[in-house]
This record gives sequence, C-alpha cells and structure tokens, in this order.
Amino acid sequence: MLLVEERKKVIEVANRAKNDRLIPLTMGNFSIRDKSTNYICVTPSGMEYSKLDPSDIVVVDLEGNIIDGTRKPSIETFMHCAVYRKRNDVFGIAHTHSTFATAWASCGKAIPVVVAEVATLLAGAVECAPYQRPGTVELAETVSEHLKDRNAVLLENHGLLAVGSNLDTAYANAVVAEEGAKIAMYAMQIGAMKVIPEEECKVLRRKTIEGYGQK
Ligand code: 13P
Ligand code: ZN
Repeated sequence: MLLVEERKKVIEVANRAKNDRLIPLTMGNFSIRDKSTNYICVTPSGMEYSKLDPSDIVVVDLEGNIIDGTRKPSIETFMHCAVYRKRNDVFGIAHTHSTFATAWASCGKAIPVVVAEVATLLAGAVECAPYQRPGTVELAETVSEHLKDRNAVLLENHGLLAVGSNLDTAYANAVVAEEGAKIAMYAMQIGAMKVIPEEECKVLRRKTIEGYGQK
C-alpha cells in the first residue's frame, strides 16, 4: 500500500476533528500531500472516521486522478487538488463545517481579526469565497482563488477550509479560525467590537514568522 504513514495521519486528524466537534457526522474532509511524489492522501466520501482503515484512504495525483485505493474519494477532492496546485507551501488541508465559522460563511462575511492569533497564524481576516455547489470544479476554483496567501478561507453557506505546512498545522488553523469566529460573534453581541487594524495585523504576522514558539 502506498503512503501508509500519511494515510494513518489523515485518519488520526479526521478523528480529532470529529472528537473536537469541528465536524458534524462526516461533513468535512482531510488530506496530506506527500513531498516526494506530490500524491495526495484524501478521506473517502461519506465514511465514518472512527471506522476508517488506512486502506480506505484514497491516493490521487494533483489533477485528482486515482493512483491507489478502492473507495470513492471525497467529493471535494478537486478543491484539495486546486489548493495544492496553487500553494507550493501547503502539505495538509482540513475542510470542516464547524458551527461558528459556518455562521459567518452563511452571511458571506469574513471573520474579522479581533484576536491576535487570527493575524499571526491565519495571516489575516478569513475571507469568504462566494457560494458554489459542493463538489464542483467551480467551488474548487473560487476557494483556491480566495485563499490567496492566507491559511484559512470561508466557503459561503458551507464551511471552512484551512491549510498548513502539514496536516497538524492545517488542523490547528481550522481550530484557530473556529475560535476566532466564535469570539468575534460574541464580541459583536456585546456591542462595540474592536477589530485589529490591518497594519497591526501585518506586524503581528511578520513577528510570528520571524520567531514565535520553540526553534
Ligand atoms: P465528503 O464526505 O465527500 O468528503 O463530503 C463532505 C463535504 O464536506 C462536502 O462538502
Ligand atoms: Zn463541505
């Protein structure tokens, strides 16, 4: 079987998302791009994560052609492929339907930067890609375009897509986006929500890239 360790990692993170309640039922999908082959390991469509075996993960190339696997891949495989094709720095993708992010997406509104980590880790406000039907090439195109150089993007009336240099980071970014969405919503309800200005967001981001966390 090709890319066994990557398949196991995809299953581990999908289950983490489920346990952390970032995805209801099987609504969402996860993938890893292998650095040496550029092949993508993606979750199968509509299968319960807790029951997944590494052989259920589907391996596709950057165009979405099946290389290995017997299951039908996620209907959003095109979206994962389109993002990997546009972003050479991305090696993991987490797509969720988490509640607070999807609430912003259902208003077609970006998640504003009210907490520093949205600027430092996601590289700024989480923009919203206009609605396209799930599982279409049109959705793949608009999502990969609106992601730009940031680490998360909303899908109007649908959910969230987060990326990272590996799947753990992509998943962490999905959590940061959901928390940012939740805090912004509560802040709006309290009243005069204060958004961190764009210039300050850029400084925060630069400082993080220069050396946040352990070396
Ligand atoms: P899959 O089960 O095919 O991955 O679809 C879930 C989803 O999130 C569709 O947008
Ligand atoms: Zn979805």
